[in-house]
This record gives sequence, C-alpha cells and structure tokens, in this order.
Amino acid sequence: MKVIDTHCDLLSRMLIDPVIRFEQEGSGADVSLPGLRKADALVQFFALYLSETLPDRGMSPILRMIELMQEKVLCSDQIILIKFGTDLKRMVGRGQMGGILSLEGVDGVGGNLDNLGKLFELGVRFIGVTWNYANWAADGVMESRGAGFTDRGREMIEECDRLGLIIDVSHLADRGFQELAACSARPFIASHSNARTICAHPRNLSDEQIQTIIARDGRIGLTFVPWFLAKKQPNVMDLLHHIDHFCSLGAVKHIGFGSDFDGFMEKLPGLSSPADYPELANLLLRYYREEEVKGFLSRNWWTFLQNNLPT
Ligand SMILES: [Zn+2]
Repeated sequence: MKVIDTHCDLLSRMLIDPVIRFEQEGSGADVSLPGLRKADALVQFFALYLSETLPDRGMSPILRMIELMQEKVLCSDQIILIKFGTDLKRMVGRGQMGGILSLEGVDGVGGNLDNLGKLFELGVRFIGVTWNYANWAADGVMESRGAGFTDRGREMIEECDRLGLIIDVSHLADRGFQELAACSARPFIASHSNARTICAHPRNLSDEQIQTIIARDGRIGLTFVPWFLAKKQPNVMDLLHHIDHFCSLGAVKHIGFGSDFDGFMEKLPGLSSPADYPELANLLLRYYREEEVKGFLSRNWWTFLQNNLPT
C-alpha cells in the first residue's frame, strides 16, 4: 500500500555524518532508498532542521542540506523533487517516488523574508515556523513564556501566503497556532504531531486545534516518537488510540503519518524504519476499512498535495 510520510530528519543527519548513504540500508540512518522501496513510499518529506549544536545556524547549513538532497538523495532516477502539482502526475507516470523539502523552524532565515523566496526557488514547499524554542518569528512549544508571532513573524505568514509556501504548526506554541488561524485563511498542516487528549504533551495537538485544521482542510501527520504516543510503555497500539481519537473528531480524511525517522533514537517496537510500513498497514487493516487505511497511508496527503502545491 502506497505511503506518504511527512517528516524525517535524514538531511540534518547527513549534514553531520558524511558516512550515511541514502542508497544503502543500515549505513547509519533510518531512512534509505531500499527502506522507502520496502515501504512502497510514494512521497517522503525531508526536513531542513538546524540542530541547536551547529556552530552556524544561518542560511548556509540550510543551503548545504538542500545540496545534500540533490547530491545524495536525488542522485538516482528512482526519486524526484516535488515542487509543483504537475510533478506528482509525472512521478506516478514514471513509477518514481517523490521527495518534498520542508523547513523545520525559520531560525536560519534570520528574519530576512527574501530568503523565503530563495528557498521557494530551490524547491522548499513547507515552512515549520519554529522548533521547540523561540526564534525571530514566534515561540516554540517548550518556550516557557508561550508567546505568539512577532511583527516580523506576521509578515512572514503573509510572505508564505504570497509565495505559496504552506505553513507547518508542529512545534509551534498554542498562542502562535491561534494567531496563525486568525490571520491566514489558507490551509496549514501539522507534519508530525499527535493528539494531546490521548497523550498530554505540548508537542501534541488539542482537540480544538485538530478541529481548526479539519475546518480549513489542512492535514496532520501522526508521529511515531514514543513519548508523543503514551506516557507508559508506548507501543504501536497507542498509535491506533490516537487514530481513533482523530477520527472521533472527524479527521478520517485529514490524517496521515509523519514518522520523524532519523529525528529520535529509541524506536517504537516494530516501527523502527520506513521498511516497517507494510507491517503497520497490515495492522491497520485489522481495525479500519481498506479505504480508510489507504487514506491514512497516502491518499489524504495526496489530495492535499494535489490541491495545495503551486501549479
Ligand atoms: Zn520535529
């Protein structure tokens, strides 16, 4: 069953570890070309994340990760960069997979909105406003003051709307979520977040936030990070509890998966790399209708990409 996964940190791993080879499974990363093939991946999102420990957290490491995408990920003709709606059709016609670039935290943009245009030109299509802490645009979920957007951050929202960059609210503090919903009418997404009602963690979404995303036909990628799934002995059944909750709120056509592979170490038993997706599909088929499972695994995100990528 085809899979769309809306978050992985392979590129930030590659940035610090030159040994990782995309075309070889087990070369030091969770995500690899053979693994994605085993997953029957249709589209994989690749985050551009600047680790807190990098000496330079400006545009240059972001640009370097985009180079790594070109040099190391897109080097085979099995995967192409998806920039426009038309790329989706072309990719399917050729039996290829697609990669999508998403910025995780605008820290490196440094408040210079021209950089957003540059990133758009290079193929970036999704913009996560923050990581866990505050940056020039807004506060992340772990920033204790919990502020919303700065004036410059609001200008950034307008610029994203103008360019056709889609905003990602995973990691954004609640106040920022509210403000974004109030000041932009476009659909936005949460690429890797679960339900706070099921697992009380600030990285997860409240019911109200989930309903807001549904109301504007956005999408949510459920993540496999154990501590966003359950407090005690998280396992793959907890993922189903989250799915049930999302569905009870009316999100059956709005959810998918954003694993966060390569972004965390301790894996959920049985769900440790993209190659485990077929097993997850089998499990889901025991509890949900086939049409629903296809929706969760790829179709919900596919329709979103068709409707929202620039033409
Ligand atoms: Zn993240």
